[in-house]
Amino acid sequence: MKSIAENIQTVVNDIKGFEQLYARPQDSVTLIAASKTQTAERIIEAYKAGIRNFGENYLQEAINKRSALPQEDIIWHFIGPIQSRKARDIALHFDWVHSVDRLVVAEKLSRNRPVGKPPLKVFIQVNISNDPNKSGVSVKQTAELAQQIMSLPGLQLRGLMTLPRAEQELSKQRTVFRELRRLLKDLQTDLPQMDSLSMGMSQDLEAAVAEGATFVRVGTAIFGAREPNSSKTN
Ligand SMILES: *Cc1c(COP(=O)(O)O)cnc(C)c1O
Repeated sequence: MKSIAENIQTVVNDIKGFEQLYARPQDSVTLIAASKTQTAERIIEAYKAGIRNFGENYLQEAINKRSALPQEDIIWHFIGPIQSRKARDIALHFDWVHSVDRLVVAEKLSRNRPVGKPPLKVFIQVNISNDPNKSGVSVKQTAELAQQIMSLPGLQLRGLMTLPRAEQELSKQRTVFRELRRLLKDLQTDLPQMDSLSMGMSQDLEAAVAEGATFVRVGTAIFGAREPNSSKTN
């Protein structure tokens, strides 16, 4: 089995290769290590290998781990589904939130973002493949939610995120990501501050970089396969 550091080297090199292949500017893709279910020790290993952006899905797990991590230059991304009663603590403990999919959640994040902190940077999660099992706002509702979020203090709307249905073929993976890119482009006419696309995981990294991802969220390719029953509720 390869070490976390070796895996990171591979993923970083893959991203660089895809940036070149698809004529993306160098370093235009930020790698987020999706560290759900990983221990603080394993997060430190990834940190030592150069990772500064970490994505967490479960609030309590993230808070517990962070108390064991003194590193101050880690940027924390919340990437899991948001229960509205958890929104307050998410606003306190994270720098970015990728999974805003309804106004009540955005309002709670806004109300609870401490005044002394920089605005919370948020993505709207879009259910681009209309998968009934996936969260996210529909393509049709995205513009309205974006306009509503724009008026909320303490939040900075930065872009769109998606978690598509798994596809094996590169061309099919690209089709879904292209849709998200086009949706963002439409929104940018009115909302030019929306400049980011959070899409791509271990299995569809190439497709995501090809279609303009600025953040990729990679778990398995860095940390190895997660325990099948290790996913827990918030
Ligand atoms: C776990 C997770 C990832 C990483 O998935 P891998 O297939 O392990 O790379 C990315 N995004 C979200 C929202 C996740 O929950």
